[in-house]
Amino acid sequence: MTLKVAKFGGTSLADAQQIRKVQQIIQADAQRRYVVPSAPGKRHKDDKKITDLLYLCHAHAQQAIAFDEVFTLISERYRCIASDLGLKIDLGPQLAEVQSRIASVAQAGGGADYAASRGEYLNGLIIAELLGYDFVDAAEIIAFDEHGRFDSERTQAFVSQRLLKHETAVVPGFYGAKPDGSIKTFSRGGSDISGAIVARGVGATVYENWTDVNGLLMADPRIVPNPKPMAVVTYRELRELAYMGASVLHDEAIFPVRKAGIPVNIRNTNEPEHPGTMIVRDAEPVTHHGSITGIAGRRDFTVVALEKGMMNSEVGFGRRLLSVFEDHGVSYEHTPSGIDTMSIVVADNQIDGKLEKVLADIRNRCEPDSLEVFPQMALIATVGHGMAQTPGIAARVFTALAKAGVNIRMIDQGSSEINIIIGVQNADFEKAQRAIYAAFEA
Ligand code: ASP
Repeated sequence: MTLKVAKFGGTSLADAQQIRKVQQIIQADAQRRYVVPSAPGKRHKDDKKITDLLYLCHAHAQQAIAFDEVFTLISERYRCIASDLGLKIDLGPQLAEVQSRIASVAQAGGGADYAASRGEYLNGLIIAELLGYDFVDAAEIIAFDEHGRFDSERTQAFVSQRLLKHETAVVPGFYGAKPDGSIKTFSRGGSDISGAIVARGVGATVYENWTDVNGLLMADPRIVPNPKPMAVVTYRELRELAYMGASVLHDEAIFPVRKAGIPVNIRNTNEPEHPGTMIVRDAEPVTHHGSITGIAGRRDFTVVALEKGMMNSEVGFGRRLLSVFEDHGVSYEHTPSGIDTMSIVVADNQIDGKLEKVLADIRNRCEPDSLEVFPQMALIATVGHGMAQTPGIAARVFTALAKAGVNIRMIDQGSSEINIIIGVQNADFEKAQRAIYAAFEA
């Protein structure tokens, strides 16, 4: 039996027109039994997110400043959504209670989380009414401990006892409660996390994450014009891409479902027929042999390269070199090495202000024949499960870069064979990514 958990982001729920699309999506598939909504987001570029307005109310309340005007914007937004949807629901008493509690909780010295969470709470009431689904307050199932850390065991118990009793339900995203009942939210954008937790809790066959794009893109659209969405990506590939700077789902949001091996499907509310991106388990068979999954990159690295004859036979050399970085509290990213050479790649924000001291210590402890520094480097990762055991992928990457006139300063391929990392000058950062993408576009 298939069971889907569908989380909808703020732009998918920004107004009645968007919510109608959500309703159609849910009604098109009876397996979409648990729905996790965000608060209404922006309807257009200059609009305000409900969550931001709620934080603003709280900030006013904390200073004992009246916030009726801001709160009116919030209540109007919900009233408008409910009436445009033709719902009978009367949110008046709920809104009045929220307004007075924002004031009283703030005066008692807390309450930012309470205030912010009401965006999802009120939206959840509306969506439940519209769909005819039960409303299950996240405060009753998503548990935090007294220090505010997510408590997965208690949550799992609550989901089994309280949520699974409902055939269909709406659970607002973004928040849960501590043992004393006080509301606690996740970090911003945290409805993604709530959705993943509910998906794992109910043992979903898929966690659908509905947003306003056709999935995760193969490259950064600010660099590569109109990159295609990835059809399938594994959790591991995604981690590599995220680490290299791609903006994808938050690690925290991936974790609960990854652990349970539940695939995540990123979908577009505005184009529901598009299959989106499927994030699958690492063990899943490769569907794109000989191809790449995505490209990501980061700028501003420094490469410290040293050479020393017979380095390879000097026991402890690598450790001595790395201990210099460790002693200065500098973490490194990569250590490509040759027979008599070793390079350490570090992010500029790690080494800024420390470089001269680090170099002096390397000279002392390692006595290299030469020590060079290459500043202003960028790293670009070409990631893909389908690259492993497929000859010619690296050749395509390097040929593309050669043709584009990009000088490669460093090459590193992790042992997993799902990632080729190259180092280029910062100035070549964009050109290199476009060239690699073009080489695999067909
Ligand atoms: N509404 C919350 C925020 O704006 C959480 C979410 O939308 O995921 O951060």
